[in-house]
Amino acid sequence: MKVDLKGLNAADTEAWIKELGLERYRARQIRHWIFIRLISDFKEMTNVSAKVKELLAEKANLNHLKTVKVQESKDTTKKFLFRLHDGQHIETVLIPEKDHFTLCISSQVGCTMGCRFCLTGTQGFTRNLTSAEIIDQIVQVKRSMEAPELLTNIVFMGMGEPLANYLGVTGAIENLIASDGMNYSHRRVTLSTCGIVPMIRRLGTETKVSLAISLNAADDKTRDFLMPVNKTYNLKSLISACRDFPLANRKMITFEYILIKGVNDRPEDAKKITRLLSGLRVKINLIPFNECPGLDLKTPDMESILAFQEVLTNNKFTAIIRKSKGRDISAACGQLRGETTPKINLL
Ligand code: SF4
Repeated sequence: MKVDLKGLNAADTEAWIKELGLERYRARQIRHWIFIRLISDFKEMTNVSAKVKELLAEKANLNHLKTVKVQESKDTTKKFLFRLHDGQHIETVLIPEKDHFTLCISSQVGCTMGCRFCLTGTQGFTRNLTSAEIIDQIVQVKRSMEAPELLTNIVFMGMGEPLANYLGVTGAIENLIASDGMNYSHRRVTLSTCGIVPMIRRLGTETKVSLAISLNAADDKTRDFLMPVNKTYNLKSLISACRDFPLANRKMITFEYILIKGVNDRPEDAKKITRLLSGLRVKINLIPFNECPGLDLKTPDMESILAFQEVLTNNKFTAIIRKSKGRDISAACGQLRGETTPKINLL
């Protein structure tokens, strides 16, 4: 079986290169071609002999994802549909910001967590992505960009719960931030979780990436209803893990709160948040729910969204209303499903 080079870290690449009988410096050279020059074929390596290139092609795999479709929203958000080697599909979303891009990447095919506001959760779970498949989303999207250096921020907020695929995700993070990998600043890599408490604690000790919590309720009854994970790890244990999370270089934890009409959007709910998060260094993103077929929940009106925000800001919390981008192509928060029905821009 061929080796997945995008899934090996620096040390493992060196060990593999040694096994092949090649010089040690080749490991760094090959990683540069893969993660910085974004090659799709070993033949593109201009400073490597034909013999070595042949050997690498015989023993290693470079491509994991096939781009099936790219859809572009009116707001220029792009959604990539990728096919994996076993015929499964995942989606990845490229979001334009003022002077850079953020890429929202997937960590699983489907998801077991069953959050009520999320379409991914309705499709069941197929499998975890490998580290190579996770990082290849970034490589393939960068290859499609005119100015790939503007893709500066990576968020694990696509399909799947990243902490339920801990080894796959942290393996990808290792190559994302390695100086001889993709060389991202760990401050620009954010992992968002529904709240798998033991894994949040482990992440805090083993990586330096930023943490985002998908909160969505400030009392256990409402959170149990919206997010089944809360029945295993309740709010008390979740907030305790957040209080213990090492923040030195990460500055603050982001809390995402999807506002759903009549469920969690009352001023009393906002007051509960202020008590729950009191004393934590946080930023709160308020995301009005994206209505879509298949989910029986509603978007609140703007008046209640603003009233909710006011309670938080009056209590000295930074609370930003985030307008989801890419709604017209089902690329917004909670809308990813890995659908293969052709719509726009078939490649
Ligand atoms: S919100 Fe995240 S954790 Fe919840 S079902 Fe969707 S993908 Fe899974």
